[in-house]
Amino acid sequence: MFGDHIIYIHLGSNLGKKRKNLQQAIAHIEETVGTICSLSSIYKTSPWGNTKQPFFLNIAVKLWTKLPPFELLYEIHVIEEKMGRVRKERWGERIIDIDILFYNNKVIDYQRLTIPHPLLERRRFVLDPLLEIASDLIHPKSGLSIEKISATCTDTSLVVLLNDK
Ligand code: ATP
Ligand code: CA
Ligand code: CA
Repeated sequence: MFGDHIIYIHLGSNLGKKRKNLQQAIAHIEETVGTICSLSSIYKTSPWGNTKQPFFLNIAVKLWTKLPPFELLYEIHVIEEKMGRVRKERWGERIIDIDILFYNNKVIDYQRLTIPHPLLERRRFVLDPLLEIASDLIHPKSGLSIEKISATCTDTSLVVLLNDK
């Protein structure tokens, strides 16, 4: 299922079998969202914002999609629900979280859908996996590359590359 639009998404899991959850989410994404171009390694990361919860596994994915932005968001929510995600507090623990980071070089500013993701510059757990697959990608708002954004990010929370991809 190729498509005209290039998107970057970020997945996280910190409940249950985390690695399996990421793999399952990626399988669903290939079925209903689009065709994968690149996958980062998996990163083990300390929780951000609400630190009293288990560690996360995170991965960044580059895809081709046919879906327009709000349909993409809808399909992502379907996958999260299908996998049994229960929404409790913000930044709480979850089986799976799928965030849209970039959609071509589009800027979308609704609360329900903000693209590029508004917190990516402040999150080492997002920037490190993204850097691996998109160091030259330019943020459409700031005009800065991921490499530059990552170099100036002051988030010191722990992010560890797992080499057993
Ligand atoms: P954060 O967005 O800070 O990482 P979160 O992922 O824990 O927080 P969720 O509970 O998963 O937050 O999502 C809350 C809402 O965020 C979603 O229902 C969705 O409508 C909205 N949203 C806005 N922008 C995006 C985006 N770029 N990707 C995914 N969801 C988004
Ligand atoms: Ca998130
Ligand atoms: Ca989310």
